[in-house]
Amino acid sequence: MSFKMKATRRASSIEYAIRDVVIPAKALEQKGVNVLKLNIGDPNAYDFDTPKHMKDALYEAANNGYNGYSPSEGDPDLLKAIAEAEGKKHNMRIDTGDICVTTGVTESLQMLFGAILEPGDNVLVPGPGYPPYTGLPMLYDAAPVPYRTIEEENWVPDVDDIRKKINNRTTAIAVINPNNPTGAVYPPKVLKEIADIAAENKLLLISDEIYDGMSFTPFTSPLTLAKDVPMVVFNGFSKVYLAPGWRLGYTVFNNPDGFLDDVKKAYMNEARLRICANTPVQRAAIAALKGPHNHVPETIRRLKERANYSYKRLNEIPGISAAKPEGAFYIFPKIEALSNGPCDRWKDDKEFVLDVLNRAHVLFVHGSGFCQTYGNGHFRAVILPPMDTLEKAFDALDAFMRNSESMDNVIS
Ligand code: PLP
Repeated sequence: MSFKMKATRRASSIEYAIRDVVIPAKALEQKGVNVLKLNIGDPNAYDFDTPKHMKDALYEAANNGYNGYSPSEGDPDLLKAIAEAEGKKHNMRIDTGDICVTTGVTESLQMLFGAILEPGDNVLVPGPGYPPYTGLPMLYDAAPVPYRTIEEENWVPDVDDIRKKINNRTTAIAVINPNNPTGAVYPPKVLKEIADIAAENKLLLISDEIYDGMSFTPFTSPLTLAKDVPMVVFNGFSKVYLAPGWRLGYTVFNNPDGFLDDVKKAYMNEARLRICANTPVQRAAIAALKGPHNHVPETIRRLKERANYSYKRLNEIPGISAAKPEGAFYIFPKIEALSNGPCDRWKDDKEFVLDVLNRAHVLFVHGSGFCQTYGNGHFRAVILPPMDTLEKAFDALDAFMRNSESMDNVIS
C-alpha cells in the first residue's frame, strides 16, 4: 500500500531527550561496546531496590483480591494515608477530597494541563526542568515559557524573570524542588516570593515535590509557607520510595476560597475518563506510607556521597564546571567551550554528548533537552551509580576532555 496516514503535528513534534540518546547508545552496545549509563533518573537501574515490606504488600494485595478497579480518585485507605502523611509534612489538615491518586506524577501533570490550558495559554516552567513540563502544554496547543535559572546563581529561580514573563494568557507557575536536572534545592525566601507572585496574579502554583525526601539540605515546600495560595502539590512513589516502575503518584489540591473548584472538577472528569491507577500498587503504597522508612537515611547517605564525589571529579576535569547538587539524583555541568555558542569541536551540547558517547562510551543527556534557552551548553549526569561506576565514567570523561585526538583510537 503506497498511502501513508499522516500523524498530527502536535504529537510528531514531541522530543524527549532522556530517551532519545538511548538509541545511539543501544547501537553501540549492539557492536559489543560497554556503555556506562549516567542518563536515567531510575534508582532501580543502579544499586537501589524497593523496600521489602512494600514488595511483600504488593504480593499480598494481588493475593487478597485487590485486582479490580478502584474509585477514580484512588483507594479510600490510600487517600487517608496520603492525607495524613502530607498533612504532617505541611503542618495542616488535608481533606481526602482534595487528593487524587494517578499513574505517576506524569499522568497527573497531563490531566492538570488538560484542565487549565486553552489553546494559546501559557505556563511558566523552570528552565531547565523535567521535560514533560515543556512537552505536555504543547499537546494542548499551549506554550511552556521557561523562567531563568542559571548555574552562577546555583540554579535558583530568578523571581524578577518570573514576574516579567507573566502575561494575560499565563495560567500557572510550576516549581520543581529539589530540581531535575540541576539538583538545586530552593531557599524558603524564593519560594515565598514565587507563591506571592502567583497569588497577586491569580495564577495556580504547581509544586512538584517528588524528590522532597531526597534532599541533602533542609527542604521547604511552598505549601508550608503559603497555605492561602491556590496550589497543586505533586508527589509519589517513584523516587523517595524507590519504585518508579510501579507508576504511582498523587496530587493534593490546596483550594483556598474555592479558587480551584472548576479546575478540580474538570481534572476529576479526566480522572474518571481514565478509570483509575493500578489497584494492587495502591494497596502497597499504603504500606509504603506507613513505613518503616529506614531506607531513606541510607539512600540519602549514598546519594550525598555520590553527589559530592561527582561534584569534585567534574570540577577537576578541564573545560567542565558544575554547581554542587543539594538534592535529587542529578548534577548539571557546564561545557565551557560552548558557553558562547558553537565551538570548533562541537556545534552544540547534543553533539558533545554524542561525541562523549562514541569516544568515551559514557552516556549523559544534553542540557538543551531540558531547556533550549537555559539548559544549552550543559549536560545532565545522574549521580545514582555506585562509586566504582562513577569513577570509571569520570576517568573516561577526563581522558576525553584532556586528549580528544588520542581518543580517536577508541572509536569502535
Ligand atoms: N517530576 C519530576 C521533577 C521528575 O524528575 C520525574 C521523573 O524523573 C517525575 C516527576 C516522574 O514522576 P512519576 O514517575 O511519578 O511519573
